[in-house]
Amino acid sequence: MVPLWLLQVADQLPWRHKDPASLLAAGKWISAPELVHIIDTAWKHAEQDLQQEGVTVQTSRQLHDAALASMTFSHLPPIRLSCMKGLVAPSYQGPCLHPDCNLTGCEGNRLYIITTSPLLMRIQLPHHKNACKWGQASIEFDLPAELAELLYTYLGEPRRALLDHHLLIGQSCPYVFMDMHGRGFASAVLTLYWQKWLLLQGGVSMNTSMCRQVFVDERVSNSAAAGPSNQGAAMVMGHSEQQWRNWYDMQFHPRLAQNAVNSMQRTSEDSHAADQVRCTCCCSGAQLEHSPTLQARHLVRF
Ligand SMILES: [Zn+2]
Repeated sequence: MVPLWLLQVADQLPWRHKDPASLLAAGKWISAPELVHIIDTAWKHAEQDLQQEGVTVQTSRQLHDAALASMTFSHLPPIRLSCMKGLVAPSYQGPCLHPDCNLTGCEGNRLYIITTSPLLMRIQLPHHKNACKWGQASIEFDLPAELAELLYTYLGEPRRALLDHHLLIGQSCPYVFMDMHGRGFASAVLTLYWQKWLLLQGGVSMNTSMCRQVFVDERVSNSAAAGPSNQGAAMVMGHSEQQWRNWYDMQFHPRLAQNAVNSMQRTSEDSHAADQVRCTCCCSGAQLEHSPTLQARHLVRF
């Protein structure tokens, strides 16, 4: 029996060292359209349940999860996990919470409400993996209208309901997203939370890094839906396009296709060999001698 901790550590190994075919075989890979469908369905159900049942801890958590999922995939190029968990709510007034911050006047990785009518929300990420390399340039973008609506709804009563449920009077959580104790997510907790959520929605236990691979794989495939430029998407994900190409497996689909073709060939060869082996049952020994390939297979098989 493999201990649970070992499985968890194994899951945190860089996925690029895993063979995509083995991910597929292990049921740890789903396509971008499937992932989008799962997330959009969860979003729709969260809104329906909120309308029918009102603001409860459960409907608030559902909306929280729908917002988290829609930010992780589907409505934005997948933001890095570290940026997602440290995203500060618009209501937070204090100093930057990033542990390594030495920027004067920094407001941290933050979600802003620019205007409410029309609703315009913006994400600004001064702290990201390439911040030093990019001369401290922030990643900054306005949210799509639908996603802004979802987040705005969540940040009102539902988020307050979660805070009231999880925290004692006087405690607060500055972050947009919170764990089951009302605290900001630790990376490992968010990874497990996401995997569990995906499984509950009928998906697979795929971590957020692999979702980034699914996204890149879709963007560079021939069947990519209309969407952002590679350069723009890479920026939101905290990469340069070159890093995108270095880091992600750009050959996933071509190699998959090739594997399928090779497998067909093997199947055909096996079937052909089986026919010949069956044939030897009624063939003479002389015929068998003239078929060295068949003899070799015969020896291997028996
Ligand atoms: Zn800062």
